[in-house]
Amino acid sequence: MELNAQILEIFGVYAFAARSTLVLSLVAMAIYVLLNAGIFALPHMGLMAVGSYTATVLSLDAHLPFFVAVAGGTVAATLCGLILAAVLGRLNGIYLAIATIAFSEAVSAAVLNIPLTGAAQGRVGIPRSTTDLAIVGSVALALVLLFAIRRSRMGLSIVAIREDALMAGHQGINVVAYRIGLMALAGFLCGLAGALNVHLAGFVEPGFFNFGLLAHTLANVVMGGMVYVGGALLGTILMSTLSQVVTVVGEYQGIVNGVIIITVVAFAPFGLIGVVSDFLRRRKTSRGQVLDAEFNALNNATIKFDRLSRKNQVSESRETVIELADISMHFGGIIALQSVSLACSSGELLGVIGPNGSGKTTLLNVISGAYKPTGGSGVLRGQAIQSLFGSPHLMSRAGIARTFQTIRLVDDLSVRDNVTIGLHSTNGGNSVLPNGKQRQSRRIYEIERVLQEHGLAHIADRYAGELSYGLRRRVEIARAVASRPKLLLLDEPTAGMDPQEREDVFARIAALLSQGIGIIVVEHDVAMMSQYCDRLVVLDFGLVIASGDPDSVLQQELVINAYVGGQGAAKR
Ligand code: ADP
Ligand code: MG
Repeated sequence: MELNAQILEIFGVYAFAARSTLVLSLVAMAIYVLLNAGIFALPHMGLMAVGSYTATVLSLDAHLPFFVAVAGGTVAATLCGLILAAVLGRLNGIYLAIATIAFSEAVSAAVLNIPLTGAAQGRVGIPRSTTDLAIVGSVALALVLLFAIRRSRMGLSIVAIREDALMAGHQGINVVAYRIGLMALAGFLCGLAGALNVHLAGFVEPGFFNFGLLAHTLANVVMGGMVYVGGALLGTILMSTLSQVVTVVGEYQGIVNGVIIITVVAFAPFGLIGVVSDFLRRRKTSRGQVLDAEFNALNNATIKFDRLSRKNQVSESRETVIELADISMHFGGIIALQSVSLACSSGELLGVIGPNGSGKTTLLNVISGAYKPTGGSGVLRGQAIQSLFGSPHLMSRAGIARTFQTIRLVDDLSVRDNVTIGLHSTNGGNSVLPNGKQRQSRRIYEIERVLQEHGLAHIADRYAGELSYGLRRRVEIARAVASRPKLLLLDEPTAGMDPQEREDVFARIAALLSQGIGIIVVEHDVAMMSQYCDRLVVLDFGLVIASGDPDSVLQQELVINAYVGGQGAAKR
């Protein structure tokens, strides 16, 4: 009898620990939500406190039923996350981490000074209404939600934002909206955890939401693998089991957490799940690198670039795609562009040349929305684009795509996934197809079409990081045109390539021109540019010093001087 009671008691202790572990795994999931998107924000303790106290007040003072109190706490913390994200805006990195920890501190201070929260003593007598079903149901709901997001279009966009927010914006992804949404989701999870927790413990006190708990939860997430949905849950369960079984761990929890965070971040930054998936991946990809020569031979044979015959073909049906007037761009005292005007038509290859530092990349950055120009205006297919300047996702949605001077792919994603990121703008709200299923199958069809068209179908499942430079460039171009843009901007697409790879790039450019895309290409090599481009614009110190037919442009004295004076690359 006595033994039985003892067993029951021990079981009771473990059962309580298990329940609060599961509740805290919701906070761990909220940490995952932000870290997985590359958002280094730690508002979790503050958000959990908001959820906890709101639920407490609703239960104790408003005498509302359990479910209403939990819902109220959850909604309050969600709203808090929304407001916080909106206020903090584009802040990132260490500043965001500091600001969000300060938010948690502010909540703590507020709690101590508001009578309703019971100040330093907290509140007791909260009905212990949190059932096992409520806990398991909440955790299951959270997992299903996070997995659904991960598997949807949003999952890939979130990875893109984490790996390279600037690149993500250029694929039409509204980075700011995602950040606000994810912060609200973190608020939701933390609020739910807080509300369940106070109804599990029966009391709430301000000391609970301390930095130690944050560090502890963070250690769990890091341990499990911070970019995996299951990482948060796995890490939380493992770590608390460890501290229950090995009681020494419980005593020195703080030290153990510190050691784990440091060790994992240093040696296995993607945690336990990362180690396992890395192992599986290495087994899968041990087939060796893609044979580029064989591959190029296969894809190069059919298309060749022929400027003159192409020019005669399309010159009649051209319409102006973009027109820029008097664009200037100043960076403090540096004048990178000075009233630059240019136009590009559909099916036209416009080359922008100029010495290093003459403003070529800056010009593309203005057109693609990366920079807001200091002055000037633009028209894209008859529409003024003033309001789109400075917003890459809007420029992308309007039909402008680009590649970057240094390749910006997500190395840890497959070729197919990288190309899929480029499809962000097309199959969203503007899809004409009525239902989700059809839209999904059309997306898959589009992705396979792009892969096929760019000779990437056989390597669709390879990681982008494994490919040669030439193939990586090809993937980047495929991603850029996946959304069927009207204007394509290429920043030094053949830099560092051998002649065969260059020819491949220009063969692909020819194919795109024949589809009616207008292309602005920036390059260094004047001889090559005059061979391929329909028209040239020459920049020098941010000024257009010549433009027109390649042959006539290159004979102009200013151009020769700029190049001979600049670096002598184009002495003809
Ligand atoms: P290019 O691509 O022709 O080599 P860039 O457009 O990169 O030249 O640069 C033109 C000028 O603008 C350079 O003097 C460069 O230092 C300056 N510049 C470009 N981007 C920035 C920036 N973000 N901040 C300050 N100066 C910049
Ligand atoms: Mg440049």
